[in-house]
Amino acid sequence: MTDYEPVIGLETHIQLNTESKIFCACKADSWEDPANTNICPVCCGFPGVLPVLNKAVVDKAVILARAMHSDIRDISYFDRKNYFYPDLPKGYQISQFDRSLASGGWLDLPMPGGDLRRISIHKLHIEEDAGKTKNEGGRRMIDFNRCGVPLIEMVTGPDLRSADEAAQYLIRLRQLLRWLGISEADMEKGHLRCDANVSIRPAGADHLNTKTEIKNVNSIDAVREAILTEIDRQKAEVTAGHRIESWTLEWDENRKKLKKMRSKETEADYRYFREPDLLPIRLDETWKAAILANYPELPLERRSRFMQEYSLPAYDAEILTSERSLSDYFETAVKAYTGDPKKVSNWMMNDVLRMINDRGITAVDLKLTPVYLAELISLVDAGRINTSTAKSLLEKVDSSGKHPAALVEEEGLGLVSDDTPIRTACEEVIAENPVEVASFKSGKTTLMGWFVGQVMRKMRGKADPQVAGKILAELLNS
Ligand SMILES: [Zn+2]
Repeated sequence: MTDYEPVIGLETHIQLNTESKIFCACKADSWEDPANTNICPVCCGFPGVLPVLNKAVVDKAVILARAMHSDIRDISYFDRKNYFYPDLPKGYQISQFDRSLASGGWLDLPMPGGDLRRISIHKLHIEEDAGKTKNEGGRRMIDFNRCGVPLIEMVTGPDLRSADEAAQYLIRLRQLLRWLGISEADMEKGHLRCDANVSIRPAGADHLNTKTEIKNVNSIDAVREAILTEIDRQKAEVTAGHRIESWTLEWDENRKKLKKMRSKETEADYRYFREPDLLPIRLDETWKAAILANYPELPLERRSRFMQEYSLPAYDAEILTSERSLSDYFETAVKAYTGDPKKVSNWMMNDVLRMINDRGITAVDLKLTPVYLAELISLVDAGRINTSTAKSLLEKVDSSGKHPAALVEEEGLGLVSDDTPIRTACEEVIAENPVEVASFKSGKTTLMGWFVGQVMRKMRGKADPQVAGKILAELLNS
């Protein structure tokens, strides 16, 4: 039986997190707003209105294009993509066609085992969103809030070879968009939308067969499931001697099934032509330099730098660079601490991350600042507090915002290394436990740990265990 390999390309629509829409002053994000409340004559396409380009859209698009290693054009144009649909009041969508803002590029995906898979980017352009239709009470309703919301459409080459790779692409893209601060990239809220082009071919072949397009998938799990379902369907069709037809399919999340929407249009159907109401985008060097002045180190670069510069294991580096604010937190803490960076990583992965996840916040929201964390670790190193006190202090520092050393002082949590109170406790423990003392003296020296434990208990964990051990040895061996 022939062995088939899947060939997958992803088409993503990324909603940029600008304040206002792309060509008017209406609020861009209408999540949970009542229908048709963020609209005006421009985004509703009234006759005689003129669009005015939102500069922030170009800024954010340039940042993404740079992150994708795309060629950024000095001059790019807007085009009209004509089609008729109730949620498109103008009868056309303002998009970019043959001279878009950027061309080419790639996104590297780290694969399990350490290899990188390079996924090519075929298209990257700016466009406006259309409205939204929904069925309610047996009627078809239209919400124009989304009209004119700024989008980047980004299309990969047919480079992905499994549903897992497609999911990995979306996970990395989402991480990158948030890292760059240009989109919330929340698939559930439609900030990141994905259509998948799927075909199959005999394993090892290099031609492309007819593909189908899966639309309407709004989570990464759903993309994975929908692609797996479509690969199985195509294999069954081909095995049965049928041809794959160029369909557009819709993923039904509730029934976990694909259903045929329509036979696909080709690009010629859109009758693209230059948008006459907008000037070309002229991206001169000064503007480009201003946009890229604060261009950040990207997640994968930072991940490998963490491994080299701080000798972190890949696992730690991956988690600590999952989010930009978390990786900034780590680095600030390491600089403040000056000791072994792995120790800072351990505290973050075990304790700080739990605090962040439990509360659904990000690292910048913590009152336990990276400098405070560094100080807590240093207090443990210096023997001023023990680890369990430090762990309980994390929460206290975070809820009060107080300096860790001040809290240790205030609550009397410091370890007692002064001999006198420890000696008293040791003497009491020996007096209260004659049986254990006798067996220690007859040679059961392993009881020492138990004695130290009793002293610690008596002093509610505040004794310096080394000092206690020394005094106990002296008393028991006398
Ligand atoms: Zn508007």
